[in-house]
Amino acid sequence: MTTISTTKQDPRGKPPASLLTIPDRNCPLCPRLVAFREEVRQREPSWFNAPVPPFGDAEGRLLIVGLAPGLQGANRTGRPFTGDYAGDLLYATLLEYGFAEGTYQARPDDGLKLIDCRIGNAVHCVPPQNKPLPVEINTCRVFLSATIATMSRLRAVVVLGRIAHDSTLKALKLRAAAAPFSHGAVHQAGPIRLYDSYHCSRYNTNTGVLTPKMFREVFARVRADLNESR
Ligand code: SF4
Repeated sequence: MTTISTTKQDPRGKPPASLLTIPDRNCPLCPRLVAFREEVRQREPSWFNAPVPPFGDAEGRLLIVGLAPGLQGANRTGRPFTGDYAGDLLYATLLEYGFAEGTYQARPDDGLKLIDCRIGNAVHCVPPQNKPLPVEINTCRVFLSATIATMSRLRAVVVLGRIAHDSTLKALKLRAAAAPFSHGAVHQAGPIRLYDSYHCSRYNTNTGVLTPKMFREVFARVRADLNESR
């Protein structure tokens, strides 16, 4: 485990009262993503088609940070990781380790509840081809930073993929070089422990980059660490 030196006890610092964790439905900050959002709104008017807000317990000790809404997943349903393959693996794993209760049915009204856990994304609007540009990742970080800063009990962050990892480090005002991304790596930053995982995308699981066992091992460690720190 790497320990990242921080100048403050808590790298989040104190959240200003004005922090906005949920972007406006018509957030105008990324012109390319706004244009794509409008295009999909025209094509699929019954879909959510807006920045997808974090889901779960704002007072949870665990935050999971994904990349961005999937076109037919969160962008369609309005709930992170809901309605596409990545959600099948993520929610099954959260249920297995007690971070969720209920039955995941790939719909935002399935009654699934997250326990001590919240899910967000580095980028809140769906990007074309699932690939946000660096400038979009940087622009949208204001909302990720606010999400982190307002979770007063936060102790564990699972970052899904390198982009989520790098953006979360920047949100915590830490240098990426101090904590290089590697599946299964754990980094300690003040009171917060960062757990690296490959993204649970269909591509990664189909190609064997990430197996369900590898994914479960990350959450088994988070569960064990949080149980120990109760
Ligand atoms: S990606 Fe984030 S910053 Fe960019 S338009 Fe969407 S909500 Fe706004």
